[in-house]
Amino acid sequence: MDKSTDRSTAASDAGGRPAAANFIRTIVEQDMETGKWGGRVQTRFPPEPNGYLHIGHAKSICLNFGLARDFGGRCNLRFDDTNPTKEEVEYVESIKADVRWLGFDWDDREFYASDYFDRLYDYAEQLIHQGKAYVDNLSAEQVRQYRGTLTEPGMESPHRDRPVEENLDLFRRMKAGEFPDGSHVLRARIDMAASNIVMRDPTLYRIRKVSHHRTGDKWCIYPMYDFTHCLSDSIEQITHSICTLEFENNRELYDWVLDELGVYHPQQIEFARLNLSYTVLSKRKLVRLVTEGHVDGWDDPRMPTITGLRRRGYTPESIRDFCDRIGVARRDSTVDIALLEHCLREDLNRRANRFMAVLRPLKVVIENFPADRVDELDAVNNPEDPAAGTRKVPFTREIFIEREDFMEEPPKKFFRLAPGREVRLRYAYFITCTDVVKDPDTGEVAELRCTYDPATRGGDAPDGRKVKATLHWVSASHGARAEVRLYDHLFTKEDPNAVEDGQDFVDVVNPKSKEVLPDCPVEPSLRDAKAEEKVQFERLGYFCVDPIASAPGRPVFNRTVTLRDTWKKIQKSLEKGKSS
Ligand code: ATP
Ligand code: MG
Repeated sequence: MDKSTDRSTAASDAGGRPAAANFIRTIVEQDMETGKWGGRVQTRFPPEPNGYLHIGHAKSICLNFGLARDFGGRCNLRFDDTNPTKEEVEYVESIKADVRWLGFDWDDREFYASDYFDRLYDYAEQLIHQGKAYVDNLSAEQVRQYRGTLTEPGMESPHRDRPVEENLDLFRRMKAGEFPDGSHVLRARIDMAASNIVMRDPTLYRIRKVSHHRTGDKWCIYPMYDFTHCLSDSIEQITHSICTLEFENNRELYDWVLDELGVYHPQQIEFARLNLSYTVLSKRKLVRLVTEGHVDGWDDPRMPTITGLRRRGYTPESIRDFCDRIGVARRDSTVDIALLEHCLREDLNRRANRFMAVLRPLKVVIENFPADRVDELDAVNNPEDPAAGTRKVPFTREIFIEREDFMEEPPKKFFRLAPGREVRLRYAYFITCTDVVKDPDTGEVAELRCTYDPATRGGDAPDGRKVKATLHWVSASHGARAEVRLYDHLFTKEDPNAVEDGQDFVDVVNPKSKEVLPDCPVEPSLRDAKAEEKVQFERLGYFCVDPIASAPGRPVFNRTVTLRDTWKKIQKSLEKGKSS
């Protein structure tokens, strides 16, 4: 984890907090001072529309849009749609929705690499004219063999020295559809002995006789990523082209193409991608989780996708806060998912109103409470936010408590309800357990009989006697019912990519990552909770109303996160380790 505690004062995020300093921000600051780009900051977020965005993309989005925002610049949304077989309109739409939901705006700057296909083609012809590109008809297998290895130089293709006119003729015929897929490619003519393998005459164009989601059947040759990306950046007058570390070796080619063509030349800067424990952040892997049915779709609340996190109950603020805290560095690392959850708790603690709900109900009959009486008790909506006010909660003779809050034979440290013991019911009364009713067939506890002390209304005894536990509860007759879905980490292993030989990451999907409780008593005021509403169920965690599965009067709650903050514990033990 990179801790960027050093915060620059020059810029601040929407919440007014100064943005964390990092090496890219420093480069931009220096460029602003020297006037390198004429005082401009122009970034872009360039997703390939072949999957949904995930939390790793959020890091890149916050970085690119954040820099533009903080330095009075602009950030483009550009779809890198050069690969015609994989892209789908569904992905384009989801990406736009997710970036917007995260709180960023690209105004009218929605671009597509495919919009530049004509210009890219012209640039390719220009390279041919300059003797810097040639048509090769080695097979893909031969191209691989000729490439050489890290320790051995490659071999030049026999077609490398074709005359310009012949190259032009062949390239135009490639474009005209005269040759089958895989028969010809256009390659840059650089250096087959380059120590950087990327520079050994990389492919610039290939034949793919497939339709494109935007250009239809206009093209049967498609430009490669390395050729498209730098030129798209150039066309859009990007100043800082920020990408992840795996493109470090490609930077030399990025610079070569732009220099040979003599066009506007942005600066490519690489940073370490986000890795997160207990999940995977590769679209290829996420696609497999979806298509093989390990999850219920891209928006499954267990997925690290933006849409999954949203459905789970994450807020854009918590994700932006997380991206700010993890910082930006050049060293690869894995961030503990506990930090993401910590950011979420901090945000939800401020905004989520409290309610009572019982996940695994045990009926309690309060024998000295009249059957037809309903006490409307005052409950605080959010102790963190006095403006949130109070609400009434109905208390009745029959209520539900949590099954695990009762033990017939309590061990030493169990302070909750037990036979003969008195506890507090939150916002209500002290009750004492007088009898345990069991199922005659199974022997399981079926119901508790209790008495209440009318003098303790509101939760305190006038005689000053204390109880050691406060339980949440829901009226059996006046409560509503809801389905509650509990989630846990999607994988059982901290690093799902590091599986044993013969295993695959899907083999370590956590079979207990989702538990459905179809019929849970909840406070009556939750009956009409709105889609995506975020609440805290007292003592249980934060929950969010599922926008898809909920029906009118019958909400479905996703557990967003429990109340236990493991991140704080991790920090404490780190601090202890430092001081001892
Ligand atoms: P994946 O490996 O998941 O397929 P990708 O890099 O192919 O990711 P793109 O759609 O090309 O996905 O990514 C768009 C932008 O988001 C790129 O600039 C990429 O570098 C960045 N990005 C992707 N994954 C991460 C990550 N885990 N952390 C930070 N940035 C990321
Ligand atoms: Mg990519």
